[in-house]
Amino acid sequence: MLVRALPDPVPPARHEIAASYISRLATLHGLDVNDLWTQVTEREKSGGMRRLVVPERLAALTGRSVHVLAGALPELRDPQPEWAMFRHQPQTGCHRCDARHPGGKVTRLLPHHRYVCLRHRAWIGPPDVNQPAAGLGEIPAIVHSQRRHLRLLNRRGWAATYDAILTAFSFCGHIWDTVRPPEDPRHVWHTWDARARILIPDADESTAFRAYSTSKLFASVYPEAVDLAVLIASPHWRRRASGDLLGQLRFLDEISRRVSYPYTDKPEFGDAIAHWATVDSWRPPSTPTHTYSPARMQGVLSPLHGGSLKRHENSALWFSRNRKAGSALLRHNHIRPVINRAWAQDYERIEGAIWHSKRTDQQLLDQTARERAAASDKLLTMLERQAADHPGTR
Ligand SMILES: [Zn+2]
Repeated sequence: MLVRALPDPVPPARHEIAASYISRLATLHGLDVNDLWTQVTEREKSGGMRRLVVPERLAALTGRSVHVLAGALPELRDPQPEWAMFRHQPQTGCHRCDARHPGGKVTRLLPHHRYVCLRHRAWIGPPDVNQPAAGLGEIPAIVHSQRRHLRLLNRRGWAATYDAILTAFSFCGHIWDTVRPPEDPRHVWHTWDARARILIPDADESTAFRAYSTSKLFASVYPEAVDLAVLIASPHWRRRASGDLLGQLRFLDEISRRVSYPYTDKPEFGDAIAHWATVDSWRPPSTPTHTYSPARMQGVLSPLHGGSLKRHENSALWFSRNRKAGSALLRHNHIRPVINRAWAQDYERIEGAIWHSKRTDQQLLDQTARERAAASDKLLTMLERQAADHPGTR
């Protein structure tokens, strides 16, 4: 198929998905998105209805070389990137970066470790329903934590870092999930509450859904999540956490230097950190449960699902009434791979999996001891090797 060059082929944005770029080009030239999409794509080789971009056709359309396009658009790279290193859901990024790119919404596929735009000091966060990027001018600790997160990535590789950050977010969710505020004013709960009040100011119920996003709650705990992730990704601390009683006490002592621990005065109702040390720390890192697929049926990016919007409005309403953040974090899809670990019992409802992730009862301890005897030290050796030779990705 002969593709004619467009008169005004603006450049793609970094990490933009091809459908988003093609859609902006169509808008800027007054063309039909699906027509243009069909022109530069072909059916998957496997014979399905989904289509893939043909890099040479997009190059002919824009007058930009395949090499230059592939520098920005991950889907055009040859060989294809390891998709597990990216989030499976495309998302909007920093609004100030996007402002340089005309033609409508810019949708990007970001690697797991992108949470902050360092240039504009803005929270990008995980994919979420309501994505107004939040300015972080008043909370520099969050911006600085993205740099520490990148250092962790360089040191440990993407797989260990991915698991460590999500695990740390789940700890924060459990710590923040209290019936009433802890009395101790130095409890980390109060730090997170103060940050959340800057990012999500109190609003009346009719406007709550605009200010609220669970993504901003992730921002509020991000500095401590990175602190914890450094421990969680370390083979040395994992070995202590899963070792004898003394090792475990040292690990928990190290945790208490980073966040309030024990985080509740009723640990008999569950302790997510002790649970992780016993049940998860000696197993390999959890991996993403979904991976991105570049093939799609049509060029138009589907608008938000009505059900997700309704759920978002409900969460916003509840948050404006009671400012309960912990359970919103724990229920968010972003950390599902570490709430529903591959080796954990299956629960029909998310409440069951959340409850399980803080269990420390004797029945679970006995079961873990049996499973552990069946495994071997090979796992820890493998972890160390992975940490040593997995390069990071930017
Ligand atoms: Zn930016």
